[in-house]
Amino acid sequence: MELDNREAGPFAPPCRSILYEIRGRRKSLPPKKRRRSIMNILVINAGSSSLKYQLLDPASGVLLAKGLCERIGIDGKFTYKAEGKQTLDAIDIPMPTHSEAIQAVLDAVADKDNGVISSMSEIGAVGHRVVHGGEAFNKSVLIDGAVLKAIEDCIPLAPLHNPANLTGIRACQKVMPGVPMVAVFDTAFHQTMPARAYMYALPYAWYEEDKVRRYGFHGTSHKYVAGRAAAMLGKPVEEVKLISCHLGNGSSITAVDGGKSVDTSMGFTPLAGVPMGTRSGDLDAGILQYEMNKRGMGIDEMLSALNKQSGVEGLSGVSSDFRDLESAAGKGDAKAALAREKFAYEVRKYVGAYAAAMGGADAVIFTAGVGENDKGIRAAVCQGLEYMGVKLDEAANDVRGKETVLSTADSKVKVLLIPTNEELMIAMDTAEIVSK
Ligand code: AMP
Repeated sequence: MELDNREAGPFAPPCRSILYEIRGRRKSLPPKKRRRSIMNILVINAGSSSLKYQLLDPASGVLLAKGLCERIGIDGKFTYKAEGKQTLDAIDIPMPTHSEAIQAVLDAVADKDNGVISSMSEIGAVGHRVVHGGEAFNKSVLIDGAVLKAIEDCIPLAPLHNPANLTGIRACQKVMPGVPMVAVFDTAFHQTMPARAYMYALPYAWYEEDKVRRYGFHGTSHKYVAGRAAAMLGKPVEEVKLISCHLGNGSSITAVDGGKSVDTSMGFTPLAGVPMGTRSGDLDAGILQYEMNKRGMGIDEMLSALNKQSGVEGLSGVSSDFRDLESAAGKGDAKAALAREKFAYEVRKYVGAYAAAMGGADAVIFTAGVGENDKGIRAAVCQGLEYMGVKLDEAANDVRGKETVLSTADSKVKVLLIPTNEELMIAMDTAEIVSK
């Protein structure tokens, strides 16, 4: 397990300066009292029956402990990892609700022998990942009653995720009364998109009355890697144009101009954009009617097929995992090879589109599971982009999982591998808001 988030390669500044570079405040650090760490931040990512957690010190970037509560409301399994401490691996702890799960986390991190803090008072705040903030939130916020109500109002936009996120927040409020809580939204970073990017060419009333528009997702990841990319380029984030390729099981590409998202490939839902593990990505809506009639499918069945049986898995018939596809393609499976080629081709098209949207780019960033590990996909995305100044260095590209410049020294547009760290970004946002 990586316990030190600072393991960030040759360009890694101390984490405090990452914070300020990401915020674009490079000229002077705030006065000394504002610089003090507010201590550790507990980062919570709550699902309906699971809860991921990390305890971080955002000032140093050090990860103190992390783990997972699973089968909440069923029998309860608890996992805990901290450097130099005994790992607990899916041990049985009764968790009828998320409150017992949070209590188990607190008990573990503050345990006399196996913990990493001496008491709960060393947790300065909790940062909650919230999937959908709709148009109500363009940045992270301190949680109060009005914020909870606004997150609730966004439930129709993320019916699976927002209720679970709310459950996690309420459980923390119950178990940790008085500790400040911050909501960090996947959608917030993209709220800077201009109307020409977020509007669909659909009846205007669908936007006005039903909130149908492009929201975009993976915002916390895109924001984090954009800040790191600026640091690697040695420029303020306000002065660079970046194309961030978050390529994982879910994938999205974002155009970041001057530190702001100006366009992104996911849309009203995370189904849009490039093909993904099992999601189709962009498609001609006419296919829905044609196939629903042909196969006697209802709309729910169709959406399930587009979300769960499509993407590289649907196309290859092999797997949603790019490692399996690579291995099958290596053994001569033509559909697996086609799925990888199709994926890289669609990503490359977005890179070209976003260079056009921004009038150029200083760097293309690869991040997330595939972007950080799959050199073949990175090479295939960059192939043919020499005309716009992208020159991949094949030897440098033979790397995984660490901050690296992948382009040649004379490449006009830099190609960067940057491991994402959404939890650290959430902790940094939380620390900044709470310290205000
Ligand atoms: P993520 O959603 O960011 O966790 O990414 C998960 C995906 O990353 C997996 O489904 C794999 O397709 C891909 N992945 C993870 N590790 C590797 C690897 N070593 N080589 C190629 N692909 C990988």
